[in-house]
Amino acid sequence: MVGLKEKVAVVTGGGMGIGQAIAVALAQEGANIVIFDIDMEAAKETACKIEDMGQEVLVCEADVSKAPSVDKATDQTLERFGHIDILINNAGITHPAVSILDLDLEFLDKVTDVDLKGVYICSRRIGKEMVGRQSGVIVNISSVTALTPVPLVVYAPVKSAVIMLTRILARDWAQKGVRVNAIAPGYILTPLLQGMFDKGLRNPDTILSHVPMKKFIMPSDIADAAVFLCSEKERFITGVTLPVDAGFSCEGGWKAYGDE
Ligand code: NAD
Repeated sequence: MVGLKEKVAVVTGGGMGIGQAIAVALAQEGANIVIFDIDMEAAKETACKIEDMGQEVLVCEADVSKAPSVDKATDQTLERFGHIDILINNAGITHPAVSILDLDLEFLDKVTDVDLKGVYICSRRIGKEMVGRQSGVIVNISSVTALTPVPLVVYAPVKSAVIMLTRILARDWAQKGVRVNAIAPGYILTPLLQGMFDKGLRNPDTILSHVPMKKFIMPSDIADAAVFLCSEKERFITGVTLPVDAGFSCEGGWKAYGDE
């Protein structure tokens, strides 16, 4: 146990993938869970898992890129639980890995809206409650693509911006009882990635050739890192970005020396 009993945790995009794994892991540690998601069916699936574990759960239909939607969901959460202890800014979308010359311009707004504005809007609204109570933890899900260049011309710079926002908020709220950290996941074997392998859109061997540990990370590995950062035992950890990437961000120029 890491001291999350009776804590109230909002997980954005908690309906599936990494967000679902984080919601379940926080519930396992005793937290009550609120899911903000646009996909109600998925969110309800996560909710069932959490109810089965004996924790309380609230599902809110919320688009993180829209402030009125986040305001409404936050009000619902406060009505039900009275306060919010943990915010996991996980909801995110991506785009095809192609050159800037070939990527439809619409992705610039779409991905920025969810992946950066979403983090900003939720941190602003829920951070206000946390600062008011002088207590809270925020974990932002960035990406290892923020740390090393890959051909994701909108997603990667946006995820870098999430890291800087994390550091700015950590500094701003350092004396206000609110810690803010980020996780930079590497290649996670989610149903989405598995589906891409099944359809031949991505090749697992090609990916693993760039992953020093030669293994895919599971959503539960990211969840474990999130639980760690939320733990009250880690009360002096703020402003950090924790890569959980099987060494991907350490790869650098290693191969130029002919070594595997
Ligand atoms: P996913 O597509 O499996 O799940 C995303 C969830 O977010 C879904 O439930 C979806 O309905 C919800 N969502 C999407 N847009 C939303 C919006 N506007 N408002 C509220 N909810 C919304 O994604 P995932 O692979 O689990 O990724 C989760 C996070 O981890 C994302 O921020 C992603 O960028 C990041 N990440 C993923 C990987 C990976 O390999 N999967 C690697 C690095 C970082």
